[in-house]
Amino acid sequence: MTLPAVRSLLLAACFGLCTSCAGPGIGKFKDTVVADVPVSPDSGVRVTYLGVNGYLLQSSDATVLVDPFFSRPPLRNYLVGEVTPNKSRIDWAMRNFPATVDLILVTHGHIDHLLDVPIIAQRTGARIVASPTSCNLVKSLKQVPDWQLVPILTQPNPTLASHETRQFDSVTVQALYTEHDRLCGAEIMPGRKTEPPETPPRRARDWVAGEPLAFIITMGGKRIFVSSGMVQALQQREVTPVDLAITGVALPDPRRSLAETVKILKPKYVLPSHQDNFFIPAEKGFRFSAQSNFPEVKRNLPGWEPGKNLILLDYFRPWTLY
Ligand SMILES: [Zn+2]
Repeated sequence: MTLPAVRSLLLAACFGLCTSCAGPGIGKFKDTVVADVPVSPDSGVRVTYLGVNGYLLQSSDATVLVDPFFSRPPLRNYLVGEVTPNKSRIDWAMRNFPATVDLILVTHGHIDHLLDVPIIAQRTGARIVASPTSCNLVKSLKQVPDWQLVPILTQPNPTLASHETRQFDSVTVQALYTEHDRLCGAEIMPGRKTEPPETPPRRARDWVAGEPLAFIITMGGKRIFVSSGMVQALQQREVTPVDLAITGVALPDPRRSLAETVKILKPKYVLPSHQDNFFIPAEKGFRFSAQSNFPEVKRNLPGWEPGKNLILLDYFRPWTLY
């Protein structure tokens, strides 16, 4: 094993050991949790939280998934042995889905974002919009035909907004350059794949981050920003404002930059994401990970009102963005 691989494994173990402690349930912040009657909106977007950084977004004419992940293997599988999709957990979660899905957007190649995507794309016929590395990892599995894969890539640009825009019928997707959160200053399972690997990914560390992306999704007359963590917000000035900012706050770095992120994105609503313990099955309910710190998130957003414009969603309880 190479030195970077050993370092990645140690970081994953460190992150996993901290994260696997089950924190209090979401009920502790019940005043911040929003939900409504689960009907398809005539206008706006129905937002359903799927756990980790996963979302189901439904408008009257489109259905989009972001980072759907339900297998949620225990910590030991991240460190040793193989990780494979857990089909019974995927079946359980997909009972909440419509039969067809238009798009699956993937922020990066780690297993908590990409592992379940090929099976869900197979079953729903959705096209996968993801970085070249994520598309090459999926290709190597030979489960999804090429026409369902839409590689999209942005490049860092220190002075201008850096984004690539694609139109998919009524849905516009802007992919934005970003970076993955660091842990103790180090990258977590980095790596890129310029070609599909000859051997499909088997261990957690084979699912490398690739080129991390954030997205602005325009559908149902709304603009929704999604990032799994770090936001290079200064580069996003030209694409703001947005209606809803879903932004990952699993680790300290994105929490520290949250106020600046929100200031630049100018959202009507902020939805802090990726705060749950994903080493336990979703059936057990939302538990905060030990690395999360929602009180700090609230402190960093003075003036944002919990339950009104600073919101939390519980698993599979939809809320409509009007
Ligand atoms: Zn990641």
